[in-house]
Amino acid sequence: LAPDYVRAIAPYQAGKPISEVAREFGLDEAGIVKLASNENPLGMPESAKLAMQQAMAELGRYPDANGFALKAAISAKYDVPQSWITLGNGSNDILEIAAHAFVQPGQSVVYAQYGFLVYALATQAVGARAIEVPAKEFGHDLQAMAKAITADTRLVYLANPNNPTGTFVSAAELEAFLKAVPADVVVVLDEAYNEYLAAEHQYESTAWVRQYPNLVVSRTMSKAYGLAGLRVGFAIAQPEVTDLMNRIRQPFNVNSLAQAAAIAALNDKAFLQKSAEVNSAGYRQLTAAFDELKLSYVPSFGNFVLVKVGEDDGAGARVNLALLQRGIIVRPVGNYGLPQWLRISIGLPEENAAFIAALKTVLA
Ligand code: PMP
Repeated sequence: LAPDYVRAIAPYQAGKPISEVAREFGLDEAGIVKLASNENPLGMPESAKLAMQQAMAELGRYPDANGFALKAAISAKYDVPQSWITLGNGSNDILEIAAHAFVQPGQSVVYAQYGFLVYALATQAVGARAIEVPAKEFGHDLQAMAKAITADTRLVYLANPNNPTGTFVSAAELEAFLKAVPADVVVVLDEAYNEYLAAEHQYESTAWVRQYPNLVVSRTMSKAYGLAGLRVGFAIAQPEVTDLMNRIRQPFNVNSLAQAAAIAALNDKAFLQKSAEVNSAGYRQLTAAFDELKLSYVPSFGNFVLVKVGEDDGAGARVNLALLQRGIIVRPVGNYGLPQWLRISIGLPEENAAFIAALKTVLA
């Protein structure tokens, strides 16, 4: 029924929903802590809830297919013209639109070992060949990635910070990479966790777009902006590239409620700042516990931490199951080739504490 390359795809494994874990393990939903999908533990901003309530009145109509008001908000915030913006149903949609727009079957796509899994899925979905470049200390080896590009490479995916490892490459390394990539290869710089970067690590990727016509910067409203369930992402790139992506994009890919909420969230500086503060406090709380338990972890720049819970290849799955039985949902990363590790999303102080207490019992 389908081409070989479609049948070869291993489906994306999302974090188990709370209701499913409650059913499976006979637990009360209220007592379950989910630290599995890098969601915002603050939930969604009140400003976005209000905007959605107002938008309810118009749900009988189609959404604005071009997302004029949302693009205006993005344009104002990131100082780019509206013709440089592509809207996505989450940034997953952006990643996939890029594969469809720029790659044909048989051509190749470069990304890193431990790169976000959707890069592999999007590559396979268009029948392209993956060139997976070995990681350097869990992060991107940008020099090796530049060298790995071949004559048929059309696209590079690169996450900064990266999920699931939380690693970060500096602005200087990134720029050197952009200079090394041939002009006919599109670079998707996936910055899903950008808003969590401390001031000293911030860099002006949206300004780089002016300099590099093959650069696509991808952002999401799912993480620091707290709108994961609404599915809003966007890309910033020069108009030629943006035009090509918009030919592939479904016209109504971002619904009316999501557009309204995203505008409110983009302008809600207080919420964004609180998200970053809760995240850095939670990071300190989790890593202090890992230090105490003498567990290795990868220093993270995102809203999650990758921690090694054992030395054998069954460790991740075993500890994950024991945590589930105690009502704690985290993310095993065996499908990334990291079977000894778990990825823990940073939660509220009490959620982190519940996870730490359960982990201590499980590892005792
Ligand atoms: N890129 C990275 C690196 C991610 O970790 C995620 C979320 N897991 C996404 C993109 C996609 O997120 P969304 O589709 O919700 O924007």
